[in-house]
Amino acid sequence: MSAEMEEGAMQSQFDVAVVGAGVSGLVCAQALRQQGHSVVVLEKSRGLGGRLATRRLPHAFADHGVRCLQVQGNLSQQLIQTLAARAVIQPWVTAIEEWSPFGISAGLDIQHYGSPNGITAAAKFLSTGLEIYRGQRVQSVAFGSTWELMLEAASGERMPNVRAKALVVAIPAPQALLLLEPLANIGAGLPTDRLPPGDFWAKLRSPTFNACITAIATYPSSLALPAWKALTASQDAEIAWISFDQSKSPGAIDPVLVVQSNAAFAEQHREAEDLSAIGQHLLSRVKELIPQLPSPDLLQVHRWRYAFARNPLAEPYLTAAPLPLVCAGDWCGGRQIESALQSGLAAAAAIAHQLGTSMADSEDSFSELIFSKLLNGIN
Ligand SMILES: Cc1cc2nc3c(=O)[nH]c(=O)nc-3n(C[C@H](O)[C@H](O)[C@H](O)COP(=O)(O)OP(=O)(O)OC[C@H]3O[C@@H](n4cnc5c(N)ncnc54)[C@H](O)[C@@H]3O)c2cc1C
Repeated sequence: MSAEMEEGAMQSQFDVAVVGAGVSGLVCAQALRQQGHSVVVLEKSRGLGGRLATRRLPHAFADHGVRCLQVQGNLSQQLIQTLAARAVIQPWVTAIEEWSPFGISAGLDIQHYGSPNGITAAAKFLSTGLEIYRGQRVQSVAFGSTWELMLEAASGERMPNVRAKALVVAIPAPQALLLLEPLANIGAGLPTDRLPPGDFWAKLRSPTFNACITAIATYPSSLALPAWKALTASQDAEIAWISFDQSKSPGAIDPVLVVQSNAAFAEQHREAEDLSAIGQHLLSRVKELIPQLPSPDLLQVHRWRYAFARNPLAEPYLTAAPLPLVCAGDWCGGRQIESALQSGLAAAAAIAHQLGTSMADSEDSFSELIFSKLLNGIN
């Protein structure tokens, strides 16, 4: 037992510990829990959802990570159906138009969904019935015959350290590497018959991420709004996305503008200290579309260091078997919600297998099961 664990006042024991309450971690934990395993989710933030994120503003919400939900594949379709049936989300915009030097042109005719309470409502729904330690950063992990997770309070009170038979690390690869790399050192104490496969570390090191800077601004209700609610700007040198997020909440009055930079702009300002100036610059670009845009009543700026995986792995999870450890996240197989869902479910099946149980034999029947249980409120 490590020194930290001996010092820990209490300790909790679980079949599986899941690091990260993003979409992949939540869906993984949900699947394992519904199969009868005892599961704990450790999340460093107070909020749930990771990059599926909402800022609560006075009288309004702004989605500063995931912009909205749309069908990307089987799993996102099932998730959207489940959330819409429970009125957690509702149809928002069909075709999102594109802003280019030639003006504004029509977008593809795809239904996009938003939540009147912010998109993070989807994560709250996925967390139904789960044991989650919020505001707890997993600082280090060690493996003897079971896992020991050392926690640090990122906010609030520090929870007891955690012991688990198996570990799922559902966070962006560079953060997973920081957490797990000490295990690669000779002397980390891993039993010789439990060493990860030879290519595990190289695969964990390979994915890199693009950053993104999001500006959130509120305006008085007197601002005359354009006909569009959201625009993409794939050809722009700085901006990727602009939306008026109050349009997701029927009855919301004050305009809430969300501007997301593209990767090149975020890279240029990755280490900038004055984020407010960066936010002001992004808003000034919107004046090209709305010349009457006044100074905002409120401006908040968020920097995502790990926004989108640049070079995801081909596989849906990264296993360290025979070590009972699986890494998951959107970077396993893609860079969006669909791959985060796929990865969470595939990681759950892999861990269940290592624990000697098995899950439904196809992704479809498995996800149908967990979404329908959630829909029917069976915990
Ligand atoms: C600005 C932006 C816009 C986007 N727009 C869209 C979109 O419109 N559509 C779409 O499909 N996708 C979009 N994405 C991508 C989408 O957000 C991701 O694919 C998905 O949310 C990833 O989920 P995840 O579970 O893999 O990881 P994350 O959401 O990153 O979750 C990881 C969680 O782990 C926690 N964590 C990290 N380290 C620790 C630790 N040591 N201890 C405890 N907790 C820890 C984090 O706080 C976080 O909550 C967007 C992303 C960004 C940043």
